[in-house]
Amino acid sequence: MSTLLLENVIIVDGTGAPPYRGSVWIDTGKIRSVCPAGTPEPDPAVADRTMDGNGMMLCPGFIDAHSHSDLALLAAPEAFGKLSQGITTEVNGNCGLSPFPVTARNRAHLEELYAGYGVPLSWHSYAEYAAVLQQAAPAINVLSLCGHNTLRAAVLGYGRAPLTAAAGDAMQSLLYRALVEGAAGFSSGLIYIPGKFAPPEELEGLLRVLRPFRRPYTTHLRSEGVQLLEALTEAITVSQRAGIPHLHLSHLKTAGAANWHKLDAALELIAEGKASGLHITADRYPYIESMTNLSVILPPPYDDIDDVTLMRRLADPAEPERLEAALAAIAPTRWDTVRLVTAAPGKYHALQGFTFREIAASTGLTPSRICRELLVEDTPGTMAAFRGMNPVNLRRILAWPDVCCGTDETARPRDYRLGRSHPRGFGSFPEFYRLLQPSLSPEQIIYKMTGLPAAIFGLPDRGIIAPGYAADLVLLDPAALSGPADFAAPHTPARGIGAVFVNGETAYSDGRVIARAGQVLSPQI
Ligand SMILES: [Zn+2]
Ligand SMILES: [Zn+2]
Repeated sequence: MSTLLLENVIIVDGTGAPPYRGSVWIDTGKIRSVCPAGTPEPDPAVADRTMDGNGMMLCPGFIDAHSHSDLALLAAPEAFGKLSQGITTEVNGNCGLSPFPVTARNRAHLEELYAGYGVPLSWHSYAEYAAVLQQAAPAINVLSLCGHNTLRAAVLGYGRAPLTAAAGDAMQSLLYRALVEGAAGFSSGLIYIPGKFAPPEELEGLLRVLRPFRRPYTTHLRSEGVQLLEALTEAITVSQRAGIPHLHLSHLKTAGAANWHKLDAALELIAEGKASGLHITADRYPYIESMTNLSVILPPPYDDIDDVTLMRRLADPAEPERLEAALAAIAPTRWDTVRLVTAAPGKYHALQGFTFREIAASTGLTPSRICRELLVEDTPGTMAAFRGMNPVNLRRILAWPDVCCGTDETARPRDYRLGRSHPRGFGSFPEFYRLLQPSLSPEQIIYKMTGLPAAIFGLPDRGIIAPGYAADLVLLDPAALSGPADFAAPHTPARGIGAVFVNGETAYSDGRVIARAGQVLSPQI
């Protein structure tokens, strides 16, 4: 640890206050003082190092409210895709999927799910996982939510198991332990298996355990399109009944053209929930294509089968034929909007980044046949992007005062060894900044990327440039800031990021990761 005097910068402090010129003195991982231009500066001679910011903008490090790097940070702790866009802290364990708690019921499944990372699952609890993560020396700070899908599977497995009193108690004990050990809150992913099998009473019981910790409940709603309003009502109602203070909506969206008109009604429901005293916030990535497992497209009866089980079942020679027949139920035009992002190495590897319609045209196969073959090759690892969101609604959602930026992505290395990213894994924060201009001021946008998520996730010493705060900082050129990553070249680094500091260390500069100074954090609420 050392001292650094960062001079000649335009400070955007993360509170929403107007920018001002000045300098910042970093000492042993913390901000020691902030000196507006014209006020007495510390003598440069007392600092180990001085750095001329050349009039660039200095912001708090960006906080990624929605991340999925649970295993990626162990396999590629440099977190290149995140650090290179200015992210210094991320919140993992979202959408109901966390790498803990691990029991005899879910261990084999999780090992298969995470097989591509080549990391042994040597832990059971959050505390054990956090120790392994800190040992890996991630380049960015990390918080982890306890995920409902993992929690349910730890007790009831991945099938359609009914909630019993004993199972409810067991899940609540596991959640309580994770929270006591420092998990950042509780997440659900109610479109996924086995979360989709959970009745509202199950969630309410778990939220009662969460309540005294005052940490957020984050939810990937049971529906983001056809049943969006019903799903939103469910989330608000279970939160109110359990008496938790804070509901956080993951990647708030109106999915599917037939549901785009529902945004006003959704915002109205949120306003009513807030009026009842429930604090409601949300995150969103600044793109109109989502990304998740290709298998979510599967019609019945395959929509109740988890990926690991399905892959085993597809080894039966008769099963792929049945799967392809079931896929015929999907409307042909749907394939125009589904894009292959990551496939297992093989004959379709070169077709990553293209829509199923485009792949069908170039291969002469039907989209159903291509889908079948991809899922037979690697069910859990085949990822697809789904274009179903509206750009006007996107800007409205981003501008909503309680929405912060979340990539909904995994921290990827620069290369493709851990699979291909959605462009959001490299460009979300610059794109968030770009899309909100000029309707919001730079300081208002930076607040949504820093001070706001720090408040949401209980980080009272991060997200703001002020004395005593952690020295997580980004030096950037706002005029050059952009996220050129796209589906053709998703690992293209952001532009305009000069340097990133994590806990006072220069972590990223000149396009390279220099230090891995991240810490595993617990919320201070
Ligand atoms: Zn999700
Ligand atoms: Zn997610």
